Amino acid sequence: DGPHDPRAEAGTSAEAGVRARPDARALADRDRARLLHPFLPGEQHSRIVMVEGEGCRLRDAEGREYLDATAGMWLCQVGHGRREIAEAAAGQMRTLEYSTVFWDYTHDRAVELAERLVGIGSDDTRRVFFTSGGSEGVEIALRMARNVHHRRGEPDRTWILTRDSAYHGAGYASGELSDFPPYTTGFGPHPGQVHRLSAPYPFAAGEAPEKATDLLVHELESAIDRIGAHRIAALIGEPVLALGGMVAPPPDYWPRVEQVLRRHGILLILDEVVTAFGRVGHWYAADRIGVRPDLTVLSKGLTSGYFPLGAVVTSEDIARTLGGDGGFPVGHTYSGHPVGCAVALANLDIIEREGLLDAAERAGARLGEELRSLHDIPLVGGTRQYGLTAAVEIVRAPGSRDPLPEGTYAIADQIRDRTGVLVRGGPRALTVAPPLVLSDRETTEIVAAFGEVLSGLPVRS
Ligand code: PLP
Repeated sequence: DGPHDPRAEAGTSAEAGVRARPDARALADRDRARLLHPFLPGEQHSRIVMVEGEGCRLRDAEGREYLDATAGMWLCQVGHGRREIAEAAAGQMRTLEYSTVFWDYTHDRAVELAERLVGIGSDDTRRVFFTSGGSEGVEIALRMARNVHHRRGEPDRTWILTRDSAYHGAGYASGELSDFPPYTTGFGPHPGQVHRLSAPYPFAAGEAPEKATDLLVHELESAIDRIGAHRIAALIGEPVLALGGMVAPPPDYWPRVEQVLRRHGILLILDEVVTAFGRVGHWYAADRIGVRPDLTVLSKGLTSGYFPLGAVVTSEDIARTLGGDGGFPVGHTYSGHPVGCAVALANLDIIEREGLLDAAERAGARLGEELRSLHDIPLVGGTRQYGLTAAVEIVRAPGSRDPLPEGTYAIADQIRDRTGVLVRGGPRALTVAPPLVLSDRETTEIVAAFGEVLSGLPVRS
């Protein structure tokens, strides 16, 4: 059964505020005249006009159906088209559409959500600062990290350690922490005081995974020696490098990194914008990789994308330091937005009620298994899966580890255009992170789409 027609359920369109399906071609022309898109090369490029979705499926204005193996931008944990969330938003808008959490103002939704975010973790002595999205959360976490050291009498601790293949956002500081070539030229001057370490990406580095952690920990220790621990505020990292290619670390990597950081008084900022809320089978990936971050950045799956919202969860210790002497002097208009919080609570209810943490783990294991059928395809260098994230490495030549010089972006487009399955391209790998409600049939459909397109890729000489 395909996507429902929201207009059929909702009565007349005027009544329910559901708009008539747009004329795709006319809308594309109007779009070209007025919108500036992120990452769209060329004014004349075509447009895909999405109109509705349900579960893992989306439909465009021409009636074409897509299987959304990207969960939007890796965020739609509960699947598309959940009425319950729409109703939670509408109900909240009717009662208290906006109120701030600056100064001594608060409201029930922000408090309930903060309690919930702490309650689902393994450490119940935490506090929550709300933002509107992931980049904003990373900027806040950075401010917190530096400010905490400053308040504790170590104002020289300003350097931040980050890693190759990382993505932490589009702000100036979060962009600087990202290993993302589009941000490096044409946007200077850059904030600086960032040191980049190698990523735990054994496939790319050509290392055996069991040796990778030793090398990476040694590199971290050398960098700390060189820069000086007294000048380093924090290390930021994604539990799984998402944009970097859904790269999960060797199991001993994070605990050993955490040990080194603790020894040197360096804070650990975990960027869980992609990995939290079931993506890797736990509420927080921290509980799977075995670390206790000082600061955790959340967004995306927090609301499944039904409303823009983010959060930074801090240890009690950090919250106490920041709360002293005038309080933490940073905030955003939309911090703790009541509608965002109501949407997040409804979303978390669904994840809990439907057992989506376990469902993600099961669907992921099946996806990982089925992806093995691609190993015979000449340009497939390997596949990997962790929770409900997976990647297919595409190599330049059979048996090589070198990526295609142009990346896999055009292959992702081909998969979409030929099979209707949405996957993400990248510098090396094709990646998927579907909604956690992925069915067995949909899992097989994703793998079949990869197989169909990848087996036809020409082997270059
Ligand atoms: N951190 C990670 C790991 C991300 O993948 C992203 C976005 O994809 C961000 C931060 C930035 O979040 P936003 O795009 O909501 O600003």
